[in-house]
Amino acid sequence: MKSSSKFSPRCLNGFANWGAGNWPPSSVGTPLVPQSTDPQTLSLLNQMDPKRIQNYIQTLVNFHTRHTASDTKSPTTGIGAARNWLLKEMTELIKPSNGRMTASMPCYLQPAIPADDIFFAVEICNVQVEIKGSVDPNRTYVYTGHYDSRRLNLSDYTGYAPGADDNASAVAIALEMIRILAPVVAKTAPPTTIIIATVAGEEQDLFGSNFLAQTLKNASVNVQANFNDDIVGSGSNAPFDTLNQHTIRIFGAGTDYLTLPADVVAEFISTGYQDDTPARHLGRYVQEVNAGAASVTGMEVALIYKPDRFFRGGDHESFLNAGFPAVRFTEPQEDFFHQHQDPRVQDGVTYGDEIEYVDFEYTARVGKVNLLSLWSIANAPATPSNFTYDTNIGFLATTESTPPSFLENIIKLYWNTEPADPLLAYYEIVWRPMSSQQWTHMLNVGLENTTILPISKDNAVFGLRAVGKNGKKSPATYALAVASQFFG
Ligand SMILES: [Zn+2]
Repeated sequence: MKSSSKFSPRCLNGFANWGAGNWPPSSVGTPLVPQSTDPQTLSLLNQMDPKRIQNYIQTLVNFHTRHTASDTKSPTTGIGAARNWLLKEMTELIKPSNGRMTASMPCYLQPAIPADDIFFAVEICNVQVEIKGSVDPNRTYVYTGHYDSRRLNLSDYTGYAPGADDNASAVAIALEMIRILAPVVAKTAPPTTIIIATVAGEEQDLFGSNFLAQTLKNASVNVQANFNDDIVGSGSNAPFDTLNQHTIRIFGAGTDYLTLPADVVAEFISTGYQDDTPARHLGRYVQEVNAGAASVTGMEVALIYKPDRFFRGGDHESFLNAGFPAVRFTEPQEDFFHQHQDPRVQDGVTYGDEIEYVDFEYTARVGKVNLLSLWSIANAPATPSNFTYDTNIGFLATTESTPPSFLENIIKLYWNTEPADPLLAYYEIVWRPMSSQQWTHMLNVGLENTTILPISKDNAVFGLRAVGKNGKKSPATYALAVASQFFG
């Protein structure tokens, strides 16, 4: 079955009950209903065009190789031709944006690193489009997809390396998002800044994404999310389960990648918040927004509590290492015969990352999830800060004068409301039992900066998110007691 119209995502039914039992009972809040998406945004998703995706991937494959150290002078082959084409294409696609999108190709000279199979200095160039935010331009959301390709021998920079699934598929999504958003931002700029980047040097050592993430960090840009697509094309072109054709994996890193003080990381782990890293909250966000629009995307999102696949990595790690929330999108079951392989027939088996193994309809569906997530989050209020709880309330008495009202199985939460976010309508507390991956309950707490809930902090984990005047919700933030040290 290939048609998304016949697919009925399971997340449409009983979303809030995934993995959760009926305990603990709750007398406050309501079962979480996935946030819905406005009709205008949904109409954008339907513009994601499988035919254009096919054409983009074919053009990229035609460069013969996009190896990081390949030819930069030829107009038709090598990474130089590929990046020049990307810049030309992006420059064309942004024309309907009324000047609100800018295309650029920042480069740096990477010295030889023999350990990474770079034996001479090479120019690393990212090709990207930026949409400057109109309300909070320093708050920034970044999409990345690497455009370089490789062969089995990573130092082979002349042989044919089509790199269709890995990773022209993600580059095609980048171009489609730019094309679809250009006339939209011409009418109204988003409140926050969006960067859609195709990056180089991933296969060697994440050079291009590291260059981008560090540039943003050095400029004190408030990067709230990186969505990194890498290998998003196999879909139906393999003997895989139908469900895999309608599923995208998202890898969310744990506490290993937290760039917070050691005592904060220690509290994450000791209080059971180890699954509540910014990366996993971002993954939950994508999962929930998609669930609310699953009849349009035709997709389910599988959030995986790992930084990446087994002993592997990708460009999102450059953002995690810079202290930014980041997740990786990858097809649900990789096709190892058609990835990193030198194209050949060996013992009757065909190898190679050729375009014939990409399912353009599937890549378009992944593109819908990306566009939905990126546009929704960039139009939502900022994720709240300094969410913490009172360690004295809902805990053992420490002296005879401890008030009886402290000795209940309750939790007192508080957070920062300054500086005021002009996009904000109200705050929402979310929580879930330990057995659930996704939030199960939500409670509107208005514009207050504190609340007491009759729920034991032993049995659930709590998050806080901001709800916009346009109904769009931010990812949640975690609650930690040691965060209170950051309050003045
Ligand atoms: Zn890749």
